[in-house]
Amino acid sequence: KKINIAIDGPAAAGKSTIAKLVAQKFNMIYVDTGAMYRAITLYYIEQETEDFDRLVKEIDLKIVLDNGQRVILNGEDVSERIRQNDVTQKVSYVASKEPVRTFLVNEQQKLANEKNVVMDGRDVGTTVLPDAELKIYMIASVEERALRRLKDNELRGIESDLESLKLDIERRDQYDMNREISPLVKAEDAISIDTTGLTIEEVTNKISELAKS
Ligand code: C5P
Repeated sequence: KKINIAIDGPAAAGKSTIAKLVAQKFNMIYVDTGAMYRAITLYYIEQETEDFDRLVKEIDLKIVLDNGQRVILNGEDVSERIRQNDVTQKVSYVASKEPVRTFLVNEQQKLANEKNVVMDGRDVGTTVLPDAELKIYMIASVEERALRRLKDNELRGIESDLESLKLDIERRDQYDMNREISPLVKAEDAISIDTTGLTIEEVTNKISELAKS
């Protein structure tokens, strides 16, 4: 039977960490939709054009799903590159453009058609997979999200400080919640989980219980 799980929520709420673990546990495939928006944003930065129709027509984007997701842009693995600050700064702007969303939502639906996926993003439960068997809306305090992102960046060797991270997270949330096309909002039938003060294991177990029932 086909089963899909949607995990949405604001920036740095722990979606990808949890989604990966839930996917492992249930032998499903993890799909990071944010990475796809980041890849188009990198291409946008390289091409220096506001012609988004052209960008999505010309982009050569491959998502490799086995063994943790890799993003290949024009034959090059950009999975690490897309975490850099220049991409993070511009991604919400690029993600607000209609041609970009139409293109990526279609790609994401194709991936979910082929496999059982745990997909994380902003509009998975509302737009990409409105019929997903389980929908989670994950939130956490800004302080905690900035702290988690700081540790994340440290591991990736990306320089950052707590205050700028907080500001960046709040700015992106505002942008994502207020854009015209499929803004970030909790799907009516999504279950909210506030992960503030919870361990990774606690959140994973909570979702696993929900997935089993
Ligand atoms: O998940 P991540 O923080 O990497 O996403 C980067 C940005 O991509 C988000 O801030 C949002 O603007 C955009 N995005 C989106 N829809 C998704 C996933 C990400 O608009 N499904």
